[in-house]
Amino acid sequence: MNPKSILAVGSIALDTLETPLGKRRDILGGSATFFAVAASLFAPVNLIGVVGTDFPEEGWQLLSDRGVDLSDVQRVDGKTFRWGARYSSDLNHRETLFTDLGVFENFQPKVSEKNRKADLVYLGNIQPSLQLAVCSELPPGSTIIADTMNLWIDVNREELRGVVQKSDIFLLNDEEAVQFTGQTDLEDAADSLLRAGPSTVIIKQGQNGALLATENSRRHIPVYPGAKVVDPTGAGDSFAGGLLGQLAQQTENTLEEAVIMAAATASYTVEGLGLEGLLKATQEGIQRRAGAILQRMDERAIQQGLRL
Ligand code: AMP
Repeated sequence: MNPKSILAVGSIALDTLETPLGKRRDILGGSATFFAVAASLFAPVNLIGVVGTDFPEEGWQLLSDRGVDLSDVQRVDGKTFRWGARYSSDLNHRETLFTDLGVFENFQPKVSEKNRKADLVYLGNIQPSLQLAVCSELPPGSTIIADTMNLWIDVNREELRGVVQKSDIFLLNDEEAVQFTGQTDLEDAADSLLRAGPSTVIIKQGQNGALLATENSRRHIPVYPGAKVVDPTGAGDSFAGGLLGQLAQQTENTLEEAVIMAAATASYTVEGLGLEGLLKATQEGIQRRAGAILQRMDERAIQQGLRL
């Protein structure tokens, strides 16, 4: 059976990265870009976004070569969104050096008739007001999966609450979960987010995996053990790409299996600077890595059983 269609909004960006293993200036990035490259390995992706007149043709080409539908991406006068960051020597911390919204400042998302019918909607990291503007264009009952980042918790907390409320699945990382909820224990943070609307909350914990939380269950999914981390940029968005890519399959995938595929997808992203790692990912490779994660979970379960 054909996979379900995915509609995604987020940033399409030019990133400047400083990592201990290399630097890049104005390379293709953005939450929507990482998401689309990952999800398009599994299902058709339609993007909503905006780029400026300085956006390189290669960026456009890279997305359309992967079958991403760009008909709702506007190209307008002005500068493409730019983001710069520097990573610590252990790659565990990053400092944002600049965020230039450029054409995102006056962006009014428009969702075409065709895209309104998408089965799954991903609200990638961008101003919460834009995430809400996309929601307002959708018919009731759309399945909404959303992500965010610390900047919006700092400056747009109220609007972000609106996004959480509308989400079926809400994703964020551990530091953001603590910052947003005020709870230092991640299980408590998940409880607090679940009370705010979504039926599922996924808290990403970097090298420590991810917590999958629903009202009745908690599950910890580890990372793929073999990845050599070069640059974590975009790991969260490609995790979401793998997740929605799996949810789009018309098979009996469980949420847990989808999170395992998400973690396997993200493991490719961290292996290269910017998009370089993710661009090497294939469906088969991701499936193989998902198998390794599953094996790790089984081994842990056996060890825990032996300890009882
Ligand atoms: P991640 O590492 O998963 O947080 O995603 C990094 C990507 O998010 C980069 O490619 C950036 O272009 C993009 N990004 C960073 N800050 C923002 C922001 N404030 N709004 C939208 N996208 C952003």
